[in-house]
Amino acid sequence: MDREIYRLIDELGIRITEHAGGEQGRWYDKPRVISLRKGLNYIERRCTVAHELGHAALGHMSSPPPWLRPRQEREADAFAADLLVSSETYAAAEDLHGNHHGAIASELYVTRHLVDVWQRRWQCRTDDFRTHERL
Ligand SMILES: [Zn+2]
Repeated sequence: MDREIYRLIDELGIRITEHAGGEQGRWYDKPRVISLRKGLNYIERRCTVAHELGHAALGHMSSPPPWLRPRQEREADAFAADLLVSSETYAAAEDLHGNHHGAIASELYVTRHLVDVWQRRWQCRTDDFRTHERL
């Protein structure tokens, strides 16, 4: 896996373990453990660790109240997208594959879901920029 991911695991003092069946990844805040489902392929594993690292880095609870859960999930997704995809690598993949999310995902070694997340984030930033320009 990426050096940046290993650095974060180390820096955040996280132990990685595995579980069978169920969710692809789990975050436990006490003790700080990320558990990955056995049998994930490289891309799933990479994206799942990045997402769970988001929960860890952002100080998320492993058992949040229901109203908070969707927000924590969005934030962890956004963290993973920013960690794994830079605007330069995304632009290069888009040059090669146009707006084909599946092909961009394979090119960047991320899931399609993460490409969708990344694009939505970029769209928001561009909209913000346009709003500011008009002021
Ligand atoms: Zn999550």
